Amino acid sequence: MALASTPAYTRTQDLMHYIGGAAVPASSGRTQAVYNPTTGAVARQLQLGSAEDVDKAVANAQAAFPAWADAPPLRRARVMFKFLELLNKHRDDIAAMITAEHGKVFTDAQGEVTRGIDIVEFACGVPQLLKGDYTEQVSTGIDNWTMRQPLGVVAGITPFNFPFMVPMWMAPVAIATGNAFILKPSERDPSPSLFMAELFKQAGLPDGIFNVVQGDKVVVDALLNHPDVKAISFVGSTPIAQYIYETGARNGKRVQALGGAKNHMVVMPDADIDQAVDALIGAAYGSAGERCMAISVAVLVGDVADKIIPKLAERAKQLKVKNGMELDAEMGPIVTAQARDRIEGYVALGVEEGAQLVVDGRGLKVAGLESGFFTGGTLFDHVTPSMRIYKEEIFGPVLACVRVADFAQAVDLVNAHEYGNGVACFTSDGNVAREFARRIQVGMVGINVPIPVPMAWHGFGGWKKSLFGDMHAYGEEGVRFYTKQKSVMQRWPASIGKGAEFVMPTSR
Ligand code: NAD
Repeated sequence: MALASTPAYTRTQDLMHYIGGAAVPASSGRTQAVYNPTTGAVARQLQLGSAEDVDKAVANAQAAFPAWADAPPLRRARVMFKFLELLNKHRDDIAAMITAEHGKVFTDAQGEVTRGIDIVEFACGVPQLLKGDYTEQVSTGIDNWTMRQPLGVVAGITPFNFPFMVPMWMAPVAIATGNAFILKPSERDPSPSLFMAELFKQAGLPDGIFNVVQGDKVVVDALLNHPDVKAISFVGSTPIAQYIYETGARNGKRVQALGGAKNHMVVMPDADIDQAVDALIGAAYGSAGERCMAISVAVLVGDVADKIIPKLAERAKQLKVKNGMELDAEMGPIVTAQARDRIEGYVALGVEEGAQLVVDGRGLKVAGLESGFFTGGTLFDHVTPSMRIYKEEIFGPVLACVRVADFAQAVDLVNAHEYGNGVACFTSDGNVAREFARRIQVGMVGINVPIPVPMAWHGFGGWKKSLFGDMHAYGEEGVRFYTKQKSVMQRWPASIGKGAEFVMPTSR
């Protein structure tokens, strides 16, 4: 099968920080290997940052912030428009970069790039988003208005599974609203972060407004403890999200910390079974299940299970698992050997716990890529809520089917789960769909849509242990997160009466 026309990203030298508009080496002397998961080979080394490097990035950002905050929003928007143009020009380069380090198939990586670009398009409208509210004559001769001003230096800490899209959930909105941004990308696939930095510079963004500090917990902790970092946006697993939220809040920062997931898809007896099969196969095995919105539990209502399981099994066995640069690939490798081993460990656990293993993806070898980090699609039936494979996030291509008697049981099951990121219901009954959307305790709901990732202007966020903090990522919630509201009340000498006022001023 044909390979994607764009060659894979081939940068082989060490990856460094990007601070103050230039590549800067790390001061720690520590490095970490970045793999090509398709071949299993080490592709390049990443230099890991220190607290000193964070100090340097914050100082650069802090110095650049006042002039950028003072720039008219329209001027900031023009930089975003230029950045957008460059991203569009380099769409496939970025997608190839993602496939090279993450492993997801090129066509899926193209989708990731598009969804990231959506947020840049949203951020181009920043003058409208910052317009504020105004009330004339709140009392005689007095007007009152609200405006939103940037916070200062803000940081984003991002996961491996969307190395372009998730940083784009944060940086364009933070920067367009006038902040200086520091990105701490995942150590597993850091290349897109440096390419973003180069494109921001080419777009005319002043040095110091977008910085990248590579690293691990050392860098994260330095950002959490730095007094000049005013806000932290985090996306990653739940234990780390909770740690970021608690530590950041204790240090007086604004924090939004998006965590892990266990997303259910309920299939009602009146659903179109073939559509539900297509949806489950794409949403459970796409990106090898390494999506926070992947469907990992199918909730099969009434007699649906007996109709759907044989079809799911047939399709799961036929998945085209191969080099993601091949254009007909449906699933690529897992990001690291450790992650692949953890996923296969969960499959063994499911068997021990008594679930019925219908399709076993363990031990899959791809011809010519025997050292790649591949595993096949796995399907379990008769999974119960007490099993760990039901309760815990596996983050791999493993679909667990749970059988329930009716709609009420399906809703109770979903609502009892500790995660609440995404959920879907497949049905042809409008009232069932409406009740589902109203009653379900989950942040993002799909009706006959398996992966309901909200568009750029709606905002993204789960409930329960899938999000710590008040505000969702991007959209108007993102604008609120990266700005402080100020209320101004004004009158002019001609309308001021005589004498001191000792009673609470009112509009009467
Ligand atoms: P992760 O939590 O291991 O890492 C995320 C970030 O935190 C990385 O930048 C990493 O360097 C840093 N980090 C890791 N351990 C740390 C520690 N002990 N202290 C401080 N920082 C630390 O997550 P991951 O494996 O990169 O990504 C997968 C996870 O992210 C899954 O749980 C997935 O559900 C979740 N995710 C959630 C969303 C969402 O929107 N809710 C989106 C994408 C991914």
